[in-house]
Amino acid sequence: MKQQTAVVTGGGRGIGRAISLELAVAGYHVTINYKSGQSAAEQTLEMIRQNGGQGRIIGFDVTDAGAAGQAVSDIAEEFDIAVLVNNAGITADGLFVMMPQKDWQSVMDTSLAGFYNVTKPVLKKMLKAKKGSIVSISSVSGIMGNRGQVNYSAAKAGIIGATRALASETARMGVRVNAVAPGLIETDMTQDAPVETIKQMIPMARTGRPEEVARVVRFLCSEDASYVTGEVISVDGGMS
Ligand code: NDP
Repeated sequence: MKQQTAVVTGGGRGIGRAISLELAVAGYHVTINYKSGQSAAEQTLEMIRQNGGQGRIIGFDVTDAGAAGQAVSDIAEEFDIAVLVNNAGITADGLFVMMPQKDWQSVMDTSLAGFYNVTKPVLKKMLKAKKGSIVSISSVSGIMGNRGQVNYSAAKAGIIGATRALASETARMGVRVNAVAPGLIETDMTQDAPVETIKQMIPMARTGRPEEVARVVRFLCSEDASYVTGEVISVDGGMS
């Protein structure tokens, strides 16, 4: 029997790092994907090992279907993929009327093509095994729509639609598909965000921590969520 692994895209830093650490503590071997942040991914792996956990890093760009497919088959040679967390994401903010096409495309490619490119080959393995859990990171922007983020809001709303539709396709085959929609979480992505202004829209009047997202992801991956599929859980201090 092969060891089970949890694949976390963009798992080397930010929310992805917190998810990798949390899943390792929950007992999973963790496969940490990165695009260009190899040293951050190595640091995350080191943190996992220091906590007594196990993992490996693997570099590929989720927008590259060929690379993602190859990576999934490489991983599957050694491991059963029990969990996939589609966490990789980018922003390219600006008012829509002035938004360059490349900023529309790159955000769509990372979130939605990324979802397709990684989830499809992983799902084939999970369907064969008749079990698995897929969790994708959406956003409060995908629920509420956010000024200056038409591209990102569209991509993250797309993740919610894809999650619900895919969940209904795979529910009878033992594969659960869910999403988490974080609010304002302090990471590299939000370092230039107008935190004080946004805080006024958050009932809990504070930003969130990556660990607070990771714990919900861990729950959705676990047997504790065995009857939960097609669900989107907001982790946003009440914002949405
Ligand atoms: P960061 O900018 O801190 O990290 C982004 C991660 O995505 C990095 O690990 C990065 O890898 C990876 N990544 C980006 N593009 C690719 C790609 N093409 N292929 C593989 N990996 C890629 O962001 P956060 O940790 O804040 O965000 C994580 C997720 O949470 C994203 O999907 C984001 O949209 C979502 N989110 C974040 C919120 C927040 O407030 N921070 C709120 C709501 C949702 P590398 O290190 O190699 O560059």
